[in-house]
Amino acid sequence: MRNSVDLHTPEAFDYNEFDTYVMRTYERFPIAIEKGQGCRLWDTEGREYLDFVAGIATCTLGHAHPALIETVTQQIQKLHHASNFYYIPEQGALAKWLVDYSCADSVFFCNSGAEANEAAIKLVRKYAHTVLDSCEQPVILTAKSSFHGRTLATISATGQPKYQKDFDPLVPGFVYVPYNDIKTVEDTITDLHKKNSRVVAVMLEPLQGEGGVRPGDLEYFLQLRKICDENNILLVFDEVQVGIGRSGKLWGYEYLGVEPDIFTSAKGLAGGIPIGAMMCKRFCDVLSPGTHASTFGGNPFVTAVALTVLKTIKKENLLQNVQARGEQLRASLRAITQKYPTLFTEVRGWGLINGIELKQEIKLTSLDIVKAAIKDGLLLAPAGPKVLRFIPPLIVSETEIEQATEILGQVLVKIS
Ligand SMILES: *Cc1c(COP(=O)(O)O)cnc(C)c1O
Repeated sequence: MRNSVDLHTPEAFDYNEFDTYVMRTYERFPIAIEKGQGCRLWDTEGREYLDFVAGIATCTLGHAHPALIETVTQQIQKLHHASNFYYIPEQGALAKWLVDYSCADSVFFCNSGAEANEAAIKLVRKYAHTVLDSCEQPVILTAKSSFHGRTLATISATGQPKYQKDFDPLVPGFVYVPYNDIKTVEDTITDLHKKNSRVVAVMLEPLQGEGGVRPGDLEYFLQLRKICDENNILLVFDEVQVGIGRSGKLWGYEYLGVEPDIFTSAKGLAGGIPIGAMMCKRFCDVLSPGTHASTFGGNPFVTAVALTVLKTIKKENLLQNVQARGEQLRASLRAITQKYPTLFTEVRGWGLINGIELKQEIKLTSLDIVKAAIKDGLLLAPAGPKVLRFIPPLIVSETEIEQATEILGQVLVKIS
């Protein structure tokens, strides 16, 4: 058997065999990742990479963090799974932490971002049918260029045709409006009311991640909160990518200065162990026993790990690190983009979710740069064809930010 710890005995990885047996739903880069430590990854040939993808904004504490190792080891020996037939102490402790450090009053646990959003959509529908009167056709407004997941309801909620193509009929009850545009929200609410349907919720990302790292506009969200209050409309935030400290605050909504009624979390919550959570305020907590469930949701293993991730964020002052490293990264990226005014339009983001946008009129795509960067030992993520996304672990150091931007600089010299 191979020794996965010993990096110095490279063993050929069989890409063809992999592609034979694994369904080809992903366009994969031709490296096989084998080991990680901190913000670094190694492939099966022993090549080292600086990881500015973090499992897509997921490995909050990086790789092989001692606190994670300790909790994983202890919990697996104690108890890893039990049914929600019973009370699970770790689940309760995690829910309490989340409630203590957010505007929510209660939490439902599941296993991914899409599932958390599904739960939010079901909660909204149930609230509409059981609390609001005369609402046969509840509509949820979502944003164009949003991303909410890959299940049928969440691709229906996602305002990007490329995720919906060939999967119709979609789940009805979603209407898309441009992001950061309050006038369209107001007009749509009025128009739908005339047609005997009713907007019961608005569901948005505080910052659009997959859609191109587009931060929410503070004034827009302030007005939106007001409109929702005045019209009995639930405000739902998808915090799957931007929550858990990535914005430099624990929750993206803190950045916007408005509280949602319902919000979801997943990616960074357990630092790379699969988890999802849907949280809400007491007044809309209407999912009674038997109306929603998840076999794995909130099991002892994953909730113990998530609690360790959250406690470590506090203990290691990671929010401060996210803010400082974010500033540093954006400053370096601005310097780089200013060097290439013909390639880039702007740098944008919050904390450690940042993007640089390529000009539409040039041929170069974010994928071209990502591929070139991999060759030079830097992992980056595209966010659509024209945006390059930087989402390192929240523990990333000053030196690692310097190294990453240095590599990017070299890459651009080569390909521009
Ligand atoms: C990644 C993501 C999802 C989907 O999460 P999965 O865990 O892949 O189901 C949903 N919403 C947002 C904002 C995301 O970034």
